[in-house]
Amino acid sequence: MLGGMQDWPLLVWKLIDHAALNHGTREIVSLTCEGTEHRSNWAEVHDRSKRVAQALTNMGMQPGDRAATLAWNTHRHIECWYGVSGMGAVAHTVNPRLFEEQIIYIINHAADRVLFLDLTFIEMVEKIAPQLTSVEHFVLMTDRAHMPAGASVDFVCYEEMVAGVDGNFRWAEVDENTPSGLCYTSGTTGNPKGVLYTHRSNVLHTLGGLGKDAMGIGSEDVILPVVPMYHANAWGLPYSCAAVGAKMVMGGPHFDAPTLHKLLMKEGTTFTAAVPTVWLGMLQHLEAEKADLGKLDRVVIGGSAVPRSMIKEFKVKYDVDVIHAWGMTEMSPLGTLGALSAEAAELPLEEQFDIKTKQGRAVFGVELKITDDEGEDLPRDGEAFGHLMVRGPWCVGEYYGGDGGHILDAEGWFDTGDVATIDKHGYMQITDRAKDVIKSGGEWISSIELENEAVGAEGVAEAAVIGLPHPKWDERPLLVIVAKPGASPTKESVLAHLEGRIAKWWMPDDVQFVDEIPHTATGKIQKTTLRQQFESYSFP
Ligand code: ADP
Repeated sequence: MLGGMQDWPLLVWKLIDHAALNHGTREIVSLTCEGTEHRSNWAEVHDRSKRVAQALTNMGMQPGDRAATLAWNTHRHIECWYGVSGMGAVAHTVNPRLFEEQIIYIINHAADRVLFLDLTFIEMVEKIAPQLTSVEHFVLMTDRAHMPAGASVDFVCYEEMVAGVDGNFRWAEVDENTPSGLCYTSGTTGNPKGVLYTHRSNVLHTLGGLGKDAMGIGSEDVILPVVPMYHANAWGLPYSCAAVGAKMVMGGPHFDAPTLHKLLMKEGTTFTAAVPTVWLGMLQHLEAEKADLGKLDRVVIGGSAVPRSMIKEFKVKYDVDVIHAWGMTEMSPLGTLGALSAEAAELPLEEQFDIKTKQGRAVFGVELKITDDEGEDLPRDGEAFGHLMVRGPWCVGEYYGGDGGHILDAEGWFDTGDVATIDKHGYMQITDRAKDVIKSGGEWISSIELENEAVGAEGVAEAAVIGLPHPKWDERPLLVIVAKPGASPTKESVLAHLEGRIAKWWMPDDVQFVDEIPHTATGKIQKTTLRQQFESYSFP
């Protein structure tokens, strides 16, 4: 027997319809590649998304076809997202920070028919266009005045394309399980693999992310997603902000602390989201300028582990709550968020910081468990650590085109490639990527925990720990450090700081100081490159 309720397909364009009808005047402010500050709102972005959908249909795009974006966070990028998905096609966000060969591979693999690009990428696209065999239309996201003269690619002018249709378009009434978005993982090993989101998975992910213990955002919030739309969908914010009618503040091509800080203050930002490296720069900027964070109330930080010292600095110095989040492209991306439980909220601040350093609890819609090497479940005691497995309606079932073969186990669990503990309250803590775990004398050392403690030492800006071969112990940890500007921490001062904070046998065998730690295109420490840099190093 079936129930008696309506069948209302979960389609992503319903989010922006809702925003336009109920929060039409709520603003979307963007810094653009033309150097302007553009002010729009949900009603306008809705109208222009429809025009994008209509223009794409006129170009011959069919439902199911893919259209790619090489673009920063702007109102136009949001319009493309909703326009492409709204006509039944697939919005494919390409990370412009990848190597050119990877960008070419990804676009060809997805067989994108249209490529939307920002002004920043003209030169790159002109260079690679001959190799982009599937792309029929290159749409430059600008107005006539900024179109380049004598370009080798026949660019379509975005503003003319939008103005050239009337916007009288009916969104595609597709099945909720049809694809609406596509994002490739960074592929630190092997080729990048595509995750093909459905309308249904994106809408459920949006609803799951809204709760008070998740991102907890509402219409009164002013939200600056520093995390780019091409990095795991800006953690879903262009969807969740539409669902609640929040004001959005978009930084365009700017990621530097002074510009972001100015924008954040000017627009009265209450909520923002970024990877830890962005906040590293921001906190240093604030300290140098003796500045504060205005109305900022909460920051979601994820993508890599947030050091305890950062969580504390935000709270104690700026009265801003850090919500530590963990997720991955394969999970749309939200998995866990670090809101405090009722009991934890009663604890002294220092103990709260300890809990907030964990990656948080699963939001409803995500199931988590940890297993040993044999696939047996491990206890949720906060001590045992094992392979972190996930299941849920916004978790990947298979990669685009079947790449990588069958990726779920017999019970439908996906192995995240992370190693973690889960405690009895459900707080999950990542101890490592499985491939970065340091195996010393048959036991595992968590590089993330060591980094977390090391970054709290006086004068340390950033820390990375890698396992290097050791004649007796197989592997031992090497601590690599970038000092804060003007500071000169020493091996002795850093190791003294670690004493008593970590197990004795975890103590790094050496400390090396470098000017810069290499990062991936999404701001994670690039441990493979770091290991290569120290290939010929041997412990003293
Ligand atoms: P990319 O490699 O493209 O950045 P993802 O953003 O999908 O891909 O990366 C997901 C991985 O990032 C996770 O599997 C995990 O290893 C790491 N990660 C994400 N958030 C955190 C966090 N809060 N703490 C530690 N690691 C994290």
